[in-house]
Amino acid sequence: MGLNQQQYINGKWVGAISGNTREIINPFNQEIIATVPESDESDTKAAIAAARAAFDNGEWSSTPATQRGMIVRKIAELIERDKEELARLESLDTGKTVEESRGDMDDIAGVFRYYAELADKDGGELIDSPVANSISKVVREPVGVCGQITPWNYPLLQASWKLAPALATGNTLVMKPSEITPLTTIKVFELMAEAGVPAGVANLVLGAGHTVGAELASNVDVDLISFTGGLVTGKKIMQAASSNVKKLALELGGKNPNIIFADADFETAVDQALNGVFFHAGQICSAGTRLIVEESIHDEFVHALVERVKKFKLGSGFDEDTQMGPLISAEHLAKVEKYVEAGIKEGATLAVGGKRPEDPELQNGFFYLPTIFTDCTTEMSIVQDEAFGPIITVEKFRTEEEAVKLANDSIYGLAGGVWTNDIVKAERCVAKMRMGTVWINDFNLYFPHAPWGGFKQSGIGRELGKLGIEEYTETKHIFHNLKPEPINWF
Ligand code: NAD
Repeated sequence: MGLNQQQYINGKWVGAISGNTREIINPFNQEIIATVPESDESDTKAAIAAARAAFDNGEWSSTPATQRGMIVRKIAELIERDKEELARLESLDTGKTVEESRGDMDDIAGVFRYYAELADKDGGELIDSPVANSISKVVREPVGVCGQITPWNYPLLQASWKLAPALATGNTLVMKPSEITPLTTIKVFELMAEAGVPAGVANLVLGAGHTVGAELASNVDVDLISFTGGLVTGKKIMQAASSNVKKLALELGGKNPNIIFADADFETAVDQALNGVFFHAGQICSAGTRLIVEESIHDEFVHALVERVKKFKLGSGFDEDTQMGPLISAEHLAKVEKYVEAGIKEGATLAVGGKRPEDPELQNGFFYLPTIFTDCTTEMSIVQDEAFGPIITVEKFRTEEEAVKLANDSIYGLAGGVWTNDIVKAERCVAKMRMGTVWINDFNLYFPHAPWGGFKQSGIGRELGKLGIEEYTETKHIFHNLKPEPINWF
């Protein structure tokens, strides 16, 4: 492979100080696709020191915002130039279909473009001053050194949501991708250097969460930690970040409800209920895994889902007819299997799936059949816990109030959907749903100018949209007295 497969610190491609390495595995067949440095705390400290020096010398933060925007736009252009290579790399690393990865690359380029456009749009705001002969203004300034930690499910997409706004607003950063899916992030650091991001501004460390990630979260030279990943890790990061009261942005898990009313367009709702969960084998934070279906159409709806699911084509992400790839790792597969076992024990009915596929050609990959549980009730762990796999649980409801109550019965609040042709009912429901994103007659749609993030234990703060800029900036009030005079109090 043409990749440097190194970490990027202070403008140089380097191995781990310890010399340790990690093999990156293709989840489709367990072949080794790359060997990368396995960094630890010492590499992370070196990267943080580089980012600190690059921020403190003020060069990047005082580069005119228009010019920073041009560099961020250039990154988008380079991603578009290398789209096919990046998409294939993402599929090799994650197992998702190349078609999905191509879509991700378009979205990623779109995120860099969006923040390139916003870079020079905020010139501050004059506010009314209570004192004569004075000027009061509010400006936004970069936070400083940002630690950025990403998960394995959408490796480069999640990275882009952090890199683009941080760079556009004049911060410096140290990024740590998931240790099992670093390849596209490495490639984009090459592209960022090519686009003209100065040495020390963007640094990349590769390694495990409990070493590299923990150092980023606790190091007092890091001013902001932006994390996307699981709830348990998010709580650890929140604790570690208290070392110097870092600014904190957390994009955590979800267990997202999808309410289907009897008056919805039946075929579309069936189709989108499947799309809402089974892309990337259900490994999506916003997957609509909790299906909440009106009793009068429940049996017919489940039957239609099951018939479609039975025909899913599992396989290599590189085969054109593959609809669903493998799970990310052996460890994650074992976790999904455990959730299913728990569901059966708790009394849910397995309508389809619930095991690994038997096809001989899939045995080397971490495949799991798309799975649907019916007769689910809200207290079951399969309904409450984020399995992060190809699993739907179906609950029934009779009234609108019951549907909303079931939808809100979760510690999470990332996203949710409502399917109905009654627009007033739809608006009534979404007004009561406690989630950061709600869709009416759609599911899983997101775009760069709409903020993304969760209520409740799905996180703190928002990425994307104008709020994405706010995450990476501090607000400063400047009061200028144009006619200073003694007060003569003392
Ligand atoms: P994870 O929490 O295991 O790991 C995420 C990242 O944190 C990895 O880079 C990992 O190395 C690092 N990490 C692990 N322990 C750490 C520690 N002690 N300190 C600092 N960093 C540490 O999550 P995952 O399994 O990679 O990803 C799946 C999770 O991510 C799911 O819960 C999913 O819902 C969530 N997710 C959320 C969003 C969102 O936008 N809300 C998007 C994608 C994924």
